Amino acid sequence: MWTDAHLDLAFNALNGRDLTLALDTLRQREPQSPDTATVTFEELRRSGVGLCLGTLFAMPQTAEHAGYTDWREARVQALAQLDQYRRWEDAGHISLLRSGGEVRQHAANYDPASSPLGVVLLMEGADPLRDVDDLPFWAEAGVRAIGLSWGKTRYAGGTDAPGPLTARGHELLSGMRELNVAQDLSHLDEQAFFEACELQPRCFASHSNSRAFVDGNRHLSDEMVREIGRRGGVIGLVLLGLFLKRGWDVGQPRVSLDEVVRHAEHYAELIGWDNVGLGSDMDGGFGNEKTPQGIDTYRDLERLADALPPEASGVMGRNWLRWLGANL
Ligand SMILES: [Zn+2]
Repeated sequence: MWTDAHLDLAFNALNGRDLTLALDTLRQREPQSPDTATVTFEELRRSGVGLCLGTLFAMPQTAEHAGYTDWREARVQALAQLDQYRRWEDAGHISLLRSGGEVRQHAANYDPASSPLGVVLLMEGADPLRDVDDLPFWAEAGVRAIGLSWGKTRYAGGTDAPGPLTARGHELLSGMRELNVAQDLSHLDEQAFFEACELQPRCFASHSNSRAFVDGNRHLSDEMVREIGRRGGVIGLVLLGLFLKRGWDVGQPRVSLDEVVRHAEHYAELIGWDNVGLGSDMDGGFGNEKTPQGIDTYRDLERLADALPPEASGVMGRNWLRWLGANL
């Protein structure tokens, strides 16, 4: 069974994508979309993905997007997504998993023909939390991991918005440690990163590539990678061209799958193959136009599995499964 550590399923559904449709039908319904869909429940099932981290992602207001301007509006977005996951669970499409035991049981009983997709809830960017006192509510609702930042949040500096942990961020990480809510380090700025690892060492990076091959604070420096390895964490590989090859942009030939393998091998050299996984982020704000060559629908990930060396056999599923089974 494969595991993808980062999929924005509910965010996409609430933006009008019905993931219960066949991919062809979904694509026909969005002929004008600049981001051609690649992910549906059927695609995940057919590729062998039986488990994923599904995000609660609140979009802040930016120059390009309408979005939240305070935590109350962020909370409304996250609650709507939580509700979407619950409706999918009621309809039998997914099963929300709330502990390592439930993850292990799901994996042991998983039948690709009939089992629902196992989903562990991951909050990407902590702004939907009012403060640390709001954490028990979300933990009770099934959120098992939180990443403090996306861009900068009230908790920490993030992508393209450098900054340290805030006082609120310190409190939240201590609270997460007490309640055993894991920490996702993806998007966290380097100024906050190392202290954040101290405060909640049960951590991973759900979707982060290596800064050795792409520039900017969205990506992990070797020092950050080693820190995750020291904590026993896993790093998920992102299948976005812009995050794979320096200077790549839409309009150029899509990047080769070899670029993904290059990031994976670099991580493996630093921290070993057992700590490398998949965090594709497919359909997370980009579509087929920006995925690597040969990956036109989610089920094409088989080609990535084939491109990885034999010693990387845990990358597509087993490494995340082990981590989640042992740590949630
Ligand atoms: Zn992200």
